[in-house]
Amino acid sequence: MDSFNEKCAVVGVFNSSRSAALCYYSLFAMQHRGQESSGISTSNGSNIVTHKGEGLVTSVFSDGLEKLVGYSSIGHNRYSTAGEDSKCDVQPIFARYSLGQIAVAHNGNLVNAKEVRDNLIAKGAIFQSHLDTENLIHLIAQSKSRKLQDRIIEALSYIKGAYSFVILSRGKLFAVRDQYGFRPLSLGEIENEDGTKGYVVASETCAFDLINAKYIRDIDPGEMLVFSLKDGNGIYESVKVFEPTPKKCIFEFVYFARPDSFVFNKCVYEIRKNMGIELARECKIKADLVIPVPDSGVISAIGYSQESGIPFELGIVRNHYIGRTFIEPGQSNRELKVRLKLNPIKEIIKDKEIIVIDDSIVRGTTSKQIIKILRKAGVKKIHLVIASPQTVSPCYYGVDTPDETQLISATKDIDEVREFINADSLHFLSLDGLYKSIGYEADNGNGYCKACFDKEYVI
Ligand code: SF4
Repeated sequence: MDSFNEKCAVVGVFNSSRSAALCYYSLFAMQHRGQESSGISTSNGSNIVTHKGEGLVTSVFSDGLEKLVGYSSIGHNRYSTAGEDSKCDVQPIFARYSLGQIAVAHNGNLVNAKEVRDNLIAKGAIFQSHLDTENLIHLIAQSKSRKLQDRIIEALSYIKGAYSFVILSRGKLFAVRDQYGFRPLSLGEIENEDGTKGYVVASETCAFDLINAKYIRDIDPGEMLVFSLKDGNGIYESVKVFEPTPKKCIFEFVYFARPDSFVFNKCVYEIRKNMGIELARECKIKADLVIPVPDSGVISAIGYSQESGIPFELGIVRNHYIGRTFIEPGQSNRELKVRLKLNPIKEIIKDKEIIVIDDSIVRGTTSKQIIKILRKAGVKKIHLVIASPQTVSPCYYGVDTPDETQLISATKDIDEVREFINADSLHFLSLDGLYKSIGYEADNGNGYCKACFDKEYVI
């Protein structure tokens, strides 16, 4: 792995006769947040039915969607976690308990998950998966409260970390975001054919576009929305579970989110373009061409080109269909792995001095290989320009990252990294430049987590 990877996406749809189909399309739109497995649980008011499996959304639901009949659904895309038994970790998780039936899906990472799990096991709980999600189900099941809403609030008081939960009971849907709001979660409205109103919550607003939902707002950090039915319409109540202390993941703007999404109520495309503009202002390099590493560097490269006046060219083409391509064993395959995905257009870049824009450097191995294939293609000089600060520390809030020893910028200064990847020059966007791209003058307590850039962990 030579990138940071968002671990999951969640969606919930309340009051639509097509709730499972709307979940399916939403998960399809958010496939980039998790490709390992997918699942949907649907309630018809009397029963909850779940269909889930390993693979992409289209393959998991090549059949099975027809059995998900009901007005309320939750769904989940999961990103792989190396070394664990994937089959039992597919979400949503379904359980029967003293108040009836429940299904839960979760995006994030609970930092005290082991401690909570050990306590539950000591009290006799039996776990079926490696998922933090199961902790919440056990805590809800063990609560003595008579209302599910109170049980959820009590269960949340025991867990710490980054989470967006969607919880389905037979009659209601709950959506809750941790008090820091690390992971995004937005609320949209749907209008049914019979004129009644429904709601959707999703990790990214690109899901709303596909299902014609209207974006209403973000769910606040520490807020829980409780969806129920009234006179045929979906309604929701807002419950403040925790005092909000926002620490929204700034890396969403750098890499995770789709550029056509609004995340934390901001347009991701505009912010990525601003990053390129800020980079051009900070770097002031002269060159013949600006070239993105596709796809993640494309929008910042457009911004850089427009601000600097240096022509933009797609000098590298990406193959989107590599999947888990077979790589012959026993060969030095790093270059092949990059070549399978990225191919330079020699005629565009030969004998040129180029600025190459990428979103981040994690281990440095991919950047090194990209520069190697660009040099083989006859480039004269390569300036690698990164649209984020140096990633110096791992994430513990629901993002899959290598440990610190594997992060090249944790152990090397900029010139040592430049030497390792064999670029003629190397530049990173400053943290202030990143804040300016988002619309702030600098970091003045604007409520963003940036711990992977500065090691300031809030929990
Ligand atoms: S540490 Fe980095 S990736 Fe993790 S939540 Fe904070 S900003 Fe996002």
